[in-house]
Amino acid sequence: MQTLIDHARTYGQRPEEFADLAKGQSPEVLFITCADSRVVPALITGARPGQLFELRTAGNIVPPYAFEHPTSEAATIEYAVEVLGVKDIVVCGHSHCGAVGAVVRGDGLNAVPAVRDWLAHAADEPKCSDLADPTVAEAVQNHVLTQLLRLRSYPRIEKRLQADQLRLHGWYYEVHTGAVLEHRAETDRFEAL
Ligand code: ZN
Repeated sequence: MQTLIDHARTYGQRPEEFADLAKGQSPEVLFITCADSRVVPALITGARPGQLFELRTAGNIVPPYAFEHPTSEAATIEYAVEVLGVKDIVVCGHSHCGAVGAVVRGDGLNAVPAVRDWLAHAADEPKCSDLADPTVAEAVQNHVLTQLLRLRSYPRIEKRLQADQLRLHGWYYEVHTGAVLEHRAETDRFEAL
């Protein structure tokens, strides 16, 4: 913790570099990814403050849209699309994801009941033909596609997609190599960006 505090103490040494951010934000992208500490969207994309609007959840899960049950995730997505007018939404899963791995392996999660109940409530079990693969790549990639479909269940998103005002992107990030793959509609595979 101390090294992080030391860095934070010196971070704002040139306040003039931040001054324009007081005028507001107009990020072009909503970046949805896992809470995993190995995934750092600003490092992966080179984004500067103001460029990425982020939603981080355990397992980069987008819960099914249900207007009668407001969620933090739905609120963040709605704000990004309706107020900020983002033009692109990236759902970025990652290798070695603990949440996706727990779902496909059927791990007992009684020691972490909130995680257990969140995954049971919000995560469909993705297809995974090799449970011995520590990266759980196949499962994570299928899981990303499920989240993209769920985004389309949000009426305001579907409306903007139909109007060509929004694009959805499925990414898979390898924490052990730094490589980023993107789902390509033409081949229905994840390939290098
Ligand atoms: Zn994860």
